[in-house]
Amino acid sequence: MSKPKPSDPTIFSKIIGREIPADIVYEDDECLAFKDINPCAPVHILVIPKKPIPRLCDASKEDMVLLGHLNLVANQVAADAGVGDAFRLVVNNGEGACQSVFHLHYHVIGGRTLQWPPG
Ligand code: C5P
Repeated sequence: MSKPKPSDPTIFSKIIGREIPADIVYEDDECLAFKDINPCAPVHILVIPKKPIPRLCDASKEDMVLLGHLNLVANQVAADAGVGDAFRLVVNNGEGACQSVFHLHYHVIGGRTLQWPPG
């Protein structure tokens, strides 16, 4: 099987299209948030744009409002999960930073003591 290209549709496109299930906690016209299938903390939610931007570094000026919206939705889902005052927002950008799904996503992580710096 050939290696997927950053432009290929990902498993997150299938979640947006309801082709595969996910535990969705928030949705609007621009984005979706769902619980990470392999959580690294009691709260681990992914916030994704419906627009298939592969990596954060692929976003452009036209995505400025969308990127701001994702941040506010991250705030909202963190608050709804009871960790609004103490959570971490993570974007893994590119293979070298451990990005495994090439559809932009923000990890909202909380509900336990978080260490710094991250690994
Ligand atoms: O930043 P990275 O690309 O490594 O994160 C991808 C995340 O997507 C992982 O935390 C993984 O558990 C999650 N995932 C998911 N549901 C899937 C496939 C992956 O929550 N069906």
